[in-house]
Amino acid sequence: MTHIQQNIHRITTQITQLEQKFARQQGEVQLLAVSKTKPIEMILDAYQADQRSFGENYVQEGVSKVVWFNAHHPEMTIDWHFIGPIQSNKTRQVAEHFDWVHTIDRSKTAQRLNDQRPADMAPLQVLIQVNTSDEESKSGVMKEEVFELAQLISSLPNLTLRGVMSIPANVNDYASQLQAFQALQQIKAQLADKYPSVDTLSMGMSGDMEAAIEAGSTIVRIGTAIFGARDYANKQ
Ligand SMILES: *Cc1c(COP(=O)(O)O)cnc(C)c1O
Repeated sequence: MTHIQQNIHRITTQITQLEQKFARQQGEVQLLAVSKTKPIEMILDAYQADQRSFGENYVQEGVSKVVWFNAHHPEMTIDWHFIGPIQSNKTRQVAEHFDWVHTIDRSKTAQRLNDQRPADMAPLQVLIQVNTSDEESKSGVMKEEVFELAQLISSLPNLTLRGVMSIPANVNDYASQLQAFQALQQIKAQLADKYPSVDTLSMGMSGDMEAAIEAGSTIVRIGTAIFGARDYANKQ
């Protein structure tokens, strides 16, 4: 087994143990392998360990990976998640290549993704990015604005509203992590009452996975612990 495959097995086992510890349903928490800056060979390696969902942050890099897999391995069933910031001039590329978008934080982005989603593709599965830290500098919408954006998304035929996502402030103590995640869980629960398609809570990374799973996460986004440290030397 390769290092990457060992890492995936280790993290998958941890997720299963945490589901049991917090009385979550077995298999309810999905592992999203964040492959940004990492080469295609590593994604192929992870695929051999049954990893099927991959997250990318940069439009150009992500799109070129999707195109490569469609051309060389059309038989592989990969779910591609876009988890980076989206500029308006890049929405078309995202709409034409990805299955999921975690980072919708403006009505303009939602509208453009809807209008640019090709008719022969399934609706784009989307999450609203929420700012749980109440810091102006953080991306994501404030809690009060979530419902207005949800209203718009639910009216767009080529988008399916699946839930919310957050990248909370980087804190090390468990109680603070849990508090931020529970706030997001409540928003998701309120949204799910109103919109039956809402079932997803994207939260938890390598350093705060346990608190996220305790609070109800359904997608944990893990990069470094699977693929190793990133080298940003070639990035914009
Ligand atoms: C890079 C990234 C991750 C993965 O972070 P690691 O610390 O490498 O696990 C998760 N979520 C988002 C939004 C990211 O940009």
